Amino acid sequence: MSFIIKCLDCGHNAPYYPTSTTCPKCNSQWREAEYDYELIGKTLPEKLPSRTADLWRYRELLPVRNPNISLSLGEGSTPLIRAVNLGMMLGCPNIYIKDERQGPTSSFKDRQAAVTIAALKEAGITEMVAASTGNVAISYSAYASRAGVKLWAFVTSLVPSVKMREIALYGSQVIKITGSYDQCKQVASEFARQRKLYQDMGARTITSIEAMKTIAFEIAEQLTAAQGPGENTPWRTPDWYVQAISGGMGPLGVHKGFREMKQMGWIDRIPAFAPIQAEGCAPMVTSWKKGLEKAETVTSPKTRIETLATGDPGRSYEFLREIVNGTNGAFESVSDEDAFRAMHVLAKMEGISAEPAAAAAFAGLFKLIRAGVIKPSDTVVVNCTGHTMPAESSILGENWSRDVKFPSMEETPQEGLLSALNQVAPERFPKIVIVEDTTEARRLIRRILQSQGNFTILEAANGREGLELIQRELPDLVVLDLMMPEMDGFTVIEALRAKQETATIPVIVATAKELTPDEKSRLSGHIQALMQKGDFLNDEFLEEVNSFIK
Ligand SMILES: *Cc1c(COP(=O)(O)O)cnc(C)c1O
Ligand SMILES: [Zn+2]
Repeated sequence: MSFIIKCLDCGHNAPYYPTSTTCPKCNSQWREAEYDYELIGKTLPEKLPSRTADLWRYRELLPVRNPNISLSLGEGSTPLIRAVNLGMMLGCPNIYIKDERQGPTSSFKDRQAAVTIAALKEAGITEMVAASTGNVAISYSAYASRAGVKLWAFVTSLVPSVKMREIALYGSQVIKITGSYDQCKQVASEFARQRKLYQDMGARTITSIEAMKTIAFEIAEQLTAAQGPGENTPWRTPDWYVQAISGGMGPLGVHKGFREMKQMGWIDRIPAFAPIQAEGCAPMVTSWKKGLEKAETVTSPKTRIETLATGDPGRSYEFLREIVNGTNGAFESVSDEDAFRAMHVLAKMEGISAEPAAAAAFAGLFKLIRAGVIKPSDTVVVNCTGHTMPAESSILGENWSRDVKFPSMEETPQEGLLSALNQVAPERFPKIVIVEDTTEARRLIRRILQSQGNFTILEAANGREGLELIQRELPDLVVLDLMMPEMDGFTVIEALRAKQETATIPVIVATAKELTPDEKSRLSGHIQALMQKGDFLNDEFLEEVNSFIK
């Protein structure tokens, strides 16, 4: 493997040693690896089909001379999942989730830890220091244990205790710092300096950026498998890459991956980048919106999402700003509440339980789609950076479970069990009829209703069937499409309103159709709500439903 380390400030080239962290000529800490792109671009693609499904399949483009398979935990090659329900709700059908929760310790930091520890091991280093908001220390600890490396993990006292205990379980020394994450990094640096220990420098660590770029390689390879090759190139690029950031190491690395693929002729364009921050700690977003070239720092972050609490991004902002501007991307911030709400949406609509930091990326996605920045026809990849930590109880609120005590021997078993089960759920639920001709839209509405409420749901695939069903069942509510074969929604409504038994049943129209003023007046007074498909999220829809059901 031949590669050199190039200084981003003076252009000086030097060989790679993990312990030498500055440019020998100008002392800059900002350097990056360069490979023989000409050769690798030609030879690597044909080797890929026979390679293992992990990030070492791109080993010619990684700064480790002899990847040591015995350290591997199966890092990388996480699935790219199409978010069908989310896409339908947002009117943006090509949303893909890069599911980084499926890394060995459930966050995308596993890539960074796997590559860095491999490089350290190769260089004979057996002790290291890392400051972390949790996930970095967890990942490093797991790999350090396999490699025989001792880790000093500096974490802020706000890191959830379950995360701290996991770090300790792997055998790392946990050091809790009462202070901000930036202060925690200072203490860690001082400790490393005094003890002359190797310290992880986040985005300034060569291996971190190199590891993160494999996300880009995988996205292009997987998107090509899903949608076919690009217009003029063997691999396909999405239109957007969306990720929640703290220090911004992820997008810096991912962008380098796209840049390298472009240089090698595998793709011919780079996606627009959308880094998302938490409102209470969004130095990059506010600085970008003000047009600043250097970031204004946030000294006391006000977010409960500790994972995203870098208040001083330093030069990462300058590099990221160039990327965002150069790709016609956008920085955006979201509130903690937006992120928590996105956790519910993701879990209930896509079966994905993400930690608040990861969910912030999705909250950002919702915001950018609604602002028209991300277009309905765009292909979007959102990095789901990490799995839920046990924060669920605080986010679920009260009454999220129902308790059943198994009846004791003295009671008649049959009766006891029946009455216990009656506490779980009443016998009769409000009845809702969905009249909708597209299967996916029917499934989406059913899913929204069943995810957060107890309803008896009946479905019809066209207007005529729907009308019969409503007249027979007399439901508490009807969710109705307008454009349907056999009998359209307008006719169904007229028929319902003409008969006494069905005249007062509330109707919510859910349609993709842009209504003319004439059509609107035909509906007015006869329906209770109009919901535009592709323009509502599940909880908004449910709110409407619940307001009509007594
Ligand atoms: C570290 C982390 C982030 C922020 O990533 P950066 O690219 O380093 O800013 C986001 N989400 C999760 C789950 C993380 O662990
Ligand atoms: Zn230099």
